[in-house]
Amino acid sequence: MSEKSSTNKPLRVENIRKVELHRHLELSIRHSTIRELAPLFGIEIPNDKVFAERFLIDQPMNDLGSVLNKFLDTQLLLSSEETLERIAYEACVDAFKEGVLILELRYAPTFIRYRHDHLSFDKIHLAIVRGVERAEKDFPIAVGLTCIIQRILPVKEAEKVTEFAIEHRNTFISLDLADNEEGFDSKPFSPFFMKAKKAGLGITVHAGEINTPKAPTYVKDAVEFLGATRIGHGVQVYRDPAMIEYVKKHNLTLELCPTSNYLTQAIPGTIEDHPFRQLYYAGIRTTINTDDPGIFNTDMNKEYLILRDKFNFRAAEFEKCNDYAASASFISLEKKQSVWPREILQI
Ligand SMILES: [Zn+2]
Repeated sequence: MSEKSSTNKPLRVENIRKVELHRHLELSIRHSTIRELAPLFGIEIPNDKVFAERFLIDQPMNDLGSVLNKFLDTQLLLSSEETLERIAYEACVDAFKEGVLILELRYAPTFIRYRHDHLSFDKIHLAIVRGVERAEKDFPIAVGLTCIIQRILPVKEAEKVTEFAIEHRNTFISLDLADNEEGFDSKPFSPFFMKAKKAGLGITVHAGEINTPKAPTYVKDAVEFLGATRIGHGVQVYRDPAMIEYVKKHNLTLELCPTSNYLTQAIPGTIEDHPFRQLYYAGIRTTINTDDPGIFNTDMNKEYLILRDKFNFRAAEFEKCNDYAASASFISLEKKQSVWPREILQI
């Protein structure tokens, strides 16, 4: 095609100004910080091989369950307010250095507190907010925090987390439901999400992530029972033309995470089999995200290189994905516009 031959210079992805909507704070820890903290918890890291075995998922795993199990070593390190403030600050700085100007970080208070009873939800949150605010002072980046409900925990926990998120709605922008979808129906969480939405929180839900027969329809559940306007992953809709139409009709934004989907085997085969291009061409609001950059050993520029080199994404297409993301971000328009170079339209 003529556009292809119009330039021989490869696009420098690190120069692209980016928006990231889907990055988990707990699994974004800088590798140098992990190496520093791990020995304090009895985890010796004599060499890179041990580090990779213990803390990285860099080969496709057998299933999402085994990936989730590998998160546990990282969880152990999240043991103090000081560490939480530090990792929040570093996650923002790292994203900024990858070109991200608008960043949404998400975390599950129940995940952090699980092995650290002395940390209350309030202590956890205030420490993270301190880290984020410090980064926003030091760098021109707009950051928003999303509170995650873990769907694998008892519904009673979800109620507590919802109340906590609503109580802190001045420092949370949205509520999310995460973890393994299979066998953990969305319906029981409906009242909590409706309450959060009424209180002014945005709703994004992990849905349609894993490769199971019913996965595409979980996206519908996220919209109908939980009021989601954004879907974490949602990648499985590529298998169902009716669901592609549904996503378009409801103007949903998909938070796609190519490396994550490849490593969790949400997408069978190789990274080239990821349907990012197909979903983009279908007219879906596709956005580019890292999910868990620390553990998946990725970053925004690596994701952009995949799209550039495997799917031939050009500057204008990256711009479109970023404008979709800027528009869909739950950060206030005034705040996100203050750092974004183009006018943010409410698409
Ligand atoms: Zn996620």
